[in-house]
Amino acid sequence: MVERRIVAACEKAHRSRDEVTLIAVSKKFPADAIRATYALGLRAFGENYVQEFAGKHADVADLAEARFHLIGHLQSNKTRVAADIFDAIQTVDSAKLARRLSEVGQPLDVMIEVKLSEEDSKDGASPAELPTLIASVRECSNLRLQGLMTMPPWNEDPEAARPYFQELARLARQLGLAQLSMGMSHDFDTAIEEGATCIRVGTAIFGARQAHA
Ligand SMILES: *Cc1c(COP(=O)(O)O)cnc(C)c1O
Repeated sequence: MVERRIVAACEKAHRSRDEVTLIAVSKKFPADAIRATYALGLRAFGENYVQEFAGKHADVADLAEARFHLIGHLQSNKTRVAADIFDAIQTVDSAKLARRLSEVGQPLDVMIEVKLSEEDSKDGASPAELPTLIASVRECSNLRLQGLMTMPPWNEDPEAARPYFQELARLARQLGLAQLSMGMSHDFDTAIEEGATCIRVGTAIFGARQAHA
């Protein structure tokens, strides 16, 4: 069970359970699944696709205190919709995207997505770009910069992700950012050991997603 794993990882790392926010990743599951998870007490949800969540948003908008995080890549032509339906955007990776989000006029919590590997398919800012990008985001009056987010290259062995988690934690410390969004179903225990404040868990909560062509 997810909650038991979180508590065990916090104990192992001598951290308080309160330091870790569980984000239930509901992509490819219907609004009913979000409502059922909300009824169990979860208040943070993650979605990957602006378009998909736009279709569910009306059916979950009444859930008091629920917060919705965009954790997938954001195209700059979808910033208006995204700012309207999400409370937080974890995937800011350029100054242009930050400015467009801020111009919508809704206050948003944001994280900067960091690309720590050379995998071509991954979005995110490079570590070298971070100081300039952080300064740009801080100039955006409607954005509140919370921290850094990353997604290591896929590997079923959670130990393979540990160096990436350590690197993200090191960068956040160096840059003076408090929040770290890292860790998924199979490796969030390792992420918590390395300082995650926000874990993004889909499969371990909702079950396997349908594969899409
Ligand atoms: C889908 C997804 C997750 C959740 O993955 P699971 O393995 O189902 O827990 C977390 N983060 C991002 C960015 C994702 O796209």
